[in-house]
Amino acid sequence: MRKGTCKFYNGIANDNCDKGINYREITGGPTFGIGTRLPCVIEGKFSKPKNGEKATCEHFVKPTKKELDDWEESVDRSIKQVSMAIKTIGKTGKQNGVIQCPACNGKLGFSVSPGNGHIWAKCETNNCLAWMQ
Ligand SMILES: [Zn+2]
Repeated sequence: MRKGTCKFYNGIANDNCDKGINYREITGGPTFGIGTRLPCVIEGKFSKPKNGEKATCEHFVKPTKKELDDWEESVDRSIKQVSMAIKTIGKTGKQNGVIQCPACNGKLGFSVSPGNGHIWAKCETNNCLAWMQ
């Protein structure tokens, strides 16, 4: 969620928004330029269509200031929790294992790449910490 987009917009790397609307179906055109025809983005350089018409969506909802503030706060909190987990994983000295999740105290499984040291991790709790470096 960010300023200038619908609260259900989750990026066009996904097929559908959080409301279940398919990005390709709603723009009704070729793939090229889909990002600028989306009705979900109303501010910034991607808000004006480069080809075709801007699509409309009856489900468009502009996020409130509180929703934007809450979202930003949750992103900041997640970044701190991932940083804590990365330090804890480093202290184990292991290539694979499980640590206590700093967000929910559940089990956070991890794998460290022997090649570049990048970490893949996922908490057992749905919608909790999960990342790939
Ligand atoms: Zn967790």
